[in-house]
Amino acid sequence: MQSRLRRAIRVTPYLLSGVALTLFMAWGMPLLLAMRGLGPSAASSDVYRLATSAVGASASSVVVPDSIATVEVRRGVFSDWCIVEPGLSHSELPPARIWPVTALYGQSSPTAVQRSAPLGCVLAPSEVERDQYARIDTGLSGWPFRAFASEAWFQSNVAGDGYDPFPEHRWNVYLGDIGGRQTLVALRPLPVGLIADVAFWGGASFLAISIPHRLRRRKWERFGRCGACGHTLDPHLAKRPVACPECSAPLPRDPLGFARSPEMHFQNAYVWLVFVSSLDIMLTWKILDRGGLEVNPVAKIVIDAWGMHGAIAFKFALMLWVIVVCEILARLRLRSGRFLAYTAVAISASPVAWSFFLLAWHELVPP
Ligand SMILES: [Zn+2]
Repeated sequence: MQSRLRRAIRVTPYLLSGVALTLFMAWGMPLLLAMRGLGPSAASSDVYRLATSAVGASASSVVVPDSIATVEVRRGVFSDWCIVEPGLSHSELPPARIWPVTALYGQSSPTAVQRSAPLGCVLAPSEVERDQYARIDTGLSGWPFRAFASEAWFQSNVAGDGYDPFPEHRWNVYLGDIGGRQTLVALRPLPVGLIADVAFWGGASFLAISIPHRLRRRKWERFGRCGACGHTLDPHLAKRPVACPECSAPLPRDPLGFARSPEMHFQNAYVWLVFVSSLDIMLTWKILDRGGLEVNPVAKIVIDAWGMHGAIAFKFALMLWVIVVCEILARLRLRSGRFLAYTAVAISASPVAWSFFLLAWHELVPP
């Protein structure tokens, strides 16, 4: 029960976002487009005609042809406009209005493909009002599915062959005129389109919110942070803990394990090691250049065998080896690693101090 409530709470923001976007697409978007002179009134129109076999009837001696009911459909991107006009059958007196409720065909080829008006269009008034109206407009809005409809009903004029220019509005709110056209907000909900739109926009919101969230979690995890709370894990830890020490959320297993290269443990010591070793090389070179002797037996062998360049390579290889050993030792026993690192610095520094002393002696006390 509680988990169901929790799930409902988690879904609610996406649902609300879906409703808000649906309403914006149905009400806001057509308004924005209307302000720029776009919309279904600017779209090209398809005209469908009611299939009919009647050709006309003679009233007295003059044959008056029947007019045929039509449905004009203008499809815009965010809204459609449907104009339904009934035909007049003169076989009755007064002439009866025939509304296009049955099969519709395209204008150019009357018998080819059967067409239908968009879902939600009003195709005929009720039987009682059949002869009272001479035109019904339906506006449909919403994207990607039409979710709301607005209607304008035009009354027959007194002569019976046309309609009043000012319609009755149903299911809409009149906002004002934009560019000489009435601006209406559609209010009649179309259940199928409305549900489909809310589902579409709710799903889109879910994707738009949850995918970046998931990507951020993955990024956090890769950079050594807890995916749940963002707590930064100890960067020196070679082995990732099973659960977050902050929020105790389980952490994913580290595929690299011991082979992972976390932050180095003793970066200061290594900087000093590199600095001191480089100084040693430079001072040794200076002393040899002045006719001095290398007193370190290992270094002497290396210099004799490979020359000064070999000595430089040897020195840096040794440095690298010391750093790697310190790091491995630090993973096993942190204090031993630290001791080795600073001892290495001290050992490398002693010949440098000795070389400095020798050079200074050489300069100050000439032989
Ligand atoms: Zn955490």
